[in-house]
Amino acid sequence: MNIKFYFYTILLVLSFTNCTAQNNNNNKSNMQKENKANPYYSNKDTNKLVIKEEEWRKVLTSEQFYIARQKGTEQPFTSKFENFKEKGTYYCAACGNALFISDTKFESGCGWPSFYQPINKSSIIYTPDTTHGMQRTEVQCGRCKAHLGHVFNDGPPPSGLRYCINGVILDFKK
Ligand SMILES: [Zn+2]
Repeated sequence: MNIKFYFYTILLVLSFTNCTAQNNNNNKSNMQKENKANPYYSNKDTNKLVIKEEEWRKVLTSEQFYIARQKGTEQPFTSKFENFKEKGTYYCAACGNALFISDTKFESGCGWPSFYQPINKSSIIYTPDTTHGMQRTEVQCGRCKAHLGHVFNDGPPPSGLRYCINGVILDFKK
């Protein structure tokens, strides 16, 4: 029997186990980073939020920050809400402000969740947008001014409007 051999085998197995445990911990902390605590999120508080960009960067996921604060656009046909038909309310994922109800959602085929009307007039802010050589109307959250998407006048009745919204910045509750 070679005692040294057994000793090294045990050492090897132990170090391997340690390594796996460490990797698991790393994965966990990476996930926590994207699942950030957001003290500004509330479905009841309607007070307007004025928060510095660096603070938003701390409380939003990188995807949410890109859409909401840098006026980004998610890839079409990637949102889980695009063909989502559950009954409930859609909130701003950055601040919790109620934006749309599922009854006003429709299948536009444009690749992004689409609604024909916001939940109420003050839930959304409208701003002219002339970027990318187009005349569009940007829609922002009425509470935190997160960029949500754009509104177009080719929607269905009764409004004739199509609110084309990035799913990343939507939060759904039944
Ligand atoms: Zn908001």
